[in-house]
Amino acid sequence: MTLQTSSDMLARLVGFDTTSARSNRALIDWVRDYFAGHGVTATLVPDEAGGKASLYASIGPDVEGGVVLSGHTDVVPVDGQPWDTDPWTLTGKDGRLYGRGSCDMKGFIACALAAVPRLKAARLKQPVHFALSYDEEVGCLGAHSLAERLMGSVKRPRAIIIGEPTMMGTVKGHKGQNSYHVAFTGFEAHSSMTHLGVSAIHFAGELIHFINRLQEEFAARATDNGYMPPWGTMNVGTLSGGTAGNILARDCSLIWEYRQIPGDDADEARRRVQAHIDEVLLPAMRRRHESARIVMTPRFVVPAFRGEARGEAEQLARAWSGANDSTMVAYATEAGIFQGTGVSTVVCGPGDIAQAHQPNEFILASQLAACDAFLDRMIEWAERG
Ligand SMILES: [Zn+2]
Repeated sequence: MTLQTSSDMLARLVGFDTTSARSNRALIDWVRDYFAGHGVTATLVPDEAGGKASLYASIGPDVEGGVVLSGHTDVVPVDGQPWDTDPWTLTGKDGRLYGRGSCDMKGFIACALAAVPRLKAARLKQPVHFALSYDEEVGCLGAHSLAERLMGSVKRPRAIIIGEPTMMGTVKGHKGQNSYHVAFTGFEAHSSMTHLGVSAIHFAGELIHFINRLQEEFAARATDNGYMPPWGTMNVGTLSGGTAGNILARDCSLIWEYRQIPGDDADEARRRVQAHIDEVLLPAMRRRHESARIVMTPRFVVPAFRGEARGEAEQLARAWSGANDSTMVAYATEAGIFQGTGVSTVVCGPGDIAQAHQPNEFILASQLAACDAFLDRMIEWAERG
């Protein structure tokens, strides 16, 4: 097996279109074969349909301690984005490497995989585990089963590093994310005969108005908590409904979310919205037509990531990266899910979140080098035991 640099590896990984809506199996199978080429057995954790899979693998002794290096293999879509280069071909220019996922977060995965030969050559006294998930960008769907299977099959690690882009700084907390779908069913009528039906769109609008007011209430509770913005945020991200301008809409649906500050009640917004539906909106719709319905369904929950007082993962990551201080961020990651296993967790990885999800997403080559150096220090640590 030839040695590959982290940028060679990143070029391979970017070449797989792992948009969340598609299968990530081609990438995962390639990674499994790469591990096999280095004598490492990787285990796949497929989703129910088998179209996607997470993967975990371990190098080093089968003992307690060591580190988990974790990343998600999926990327956000490029549809409608004005790219100057092919998003699926890593393209270097002026110290930047362009490609979808270069920053979020195949850059970290590339560095971790490129370290496999170095890990194999090292005399590890503690193991290094790899955990690669799917569907992070659509609700961290793969990480739950991955974290459970990994922790069930290895002895307890000391720290979990989630390599989301932080410019190799350490992040010790982020908000949660709770996403819901609401389907309104009204009753169709000619739009000149509004007394004969009930519009699903009009009542969806009432719910959006309620969500706006609830968000203002949350904002008024802001404290000096280090988050930006320092309150739990709400957003209606999609809205669709209706068939024609002259019909009272039968159907309307929307997706809304609540991103709570760690320690806040993650379920409060859902309860408040559900109560408003049950006590105000649905009775009002039913007075117009008895067949009206409003059904709210949870889509996913990404738990908040709590800062740990002197967290071991944070201390280790700071020692390996040279980061002076840890910050809190607003975006969600898989850190809260992995922290749920009881193992100390930190977010630390190459690249700048500002480039994530953008057209012409890139990572600085110097960030890959910084992550390679971080992993070298991690290997030295694992050799000392
Ligand atoms: Zn990410």
